[in-house]
Amino acid sequence: MKTGIMGGTFDPIHYGHLLAAEEARINLGIDRLIFVPTGDPAYKRKITPAEDRYAMTLLATAGVLEYSVSRIEIDRKEETHTIDTLREFIKSGIKPEDLYFITGLDAMLSITSWFDYKKIPDLCTLVTARRPGYPVSGIETLPDFIKDKLKYIEIPQFAISSTEIRERSRDGRGIRFLVPHLVEIYIESNKLYKSK
Ligand code: ATP
Ligand code: MG
Repeated sequence: MKTGIMGGTFDPIHYGHLLAAEEARINLGIDRLIFVPTGDPAYKRKITPAEDRYAMTLLATAGVLEYSVSRIEIDRKEETHTIDTLREFIKSGIKPEDLYFITGLDAMLSITSWFDYKKIPDLCTLVTARRPGYPVSGIETLPDFIKDKLKYIEIPQFAISSTEIRERSRDGRGIRFLVPHLVEIYIESNKLYKSK
């Protein structure tokens, strides 16, 4: 049984995330996909509270048999690192050869700055997909022990980011068809991205 993990801030989750995760699932024959919203990171801009981001991730994935959402990073008290999340999934009984960690290429290219990144390829296969608006290449600059565990997949290009969705929502430009309908309703009813 192959498990894919898609991490992200998901502020909010959008069709770019869902498409990337689903394409990875189909390409690699992954049986189940777990979305892992990050906890509230100290270093990033002030982000929407984890519980709202978690709720939207649930709404976006509800009803898809192969999908689930994990609170592993949200509930962690300490600062959250990918390596710890992978270790916890391994501890829960998933074998490293059955674990896939999925990110966009922009995120993957920063892997050498992640905490304890050298141990990451021992715990999973890395899966990455091109993201519109970012360079297509850069993989060749990664160390060999990363490249050996890295699978690059081509996916339909959907040029959208959470940043753009927040801006559109704030400016009243509309976000329909960029995020799942229930996520759109959640954002609007809670006025998530209206400046306070
Ligand atoms: P923000 O603009 O707030 O940084 P984001 O859209 O980049 O948000 P994240 O939650 O930061 O979303 O990204 C989570 C993961 O999803 C990253 O690995 C990123 O590369 C990937 N990703 C985000 N948008 C897309 C997209 N449109 N196509 C493919 N991958 C994407
Ligand atoms: Mg991002």
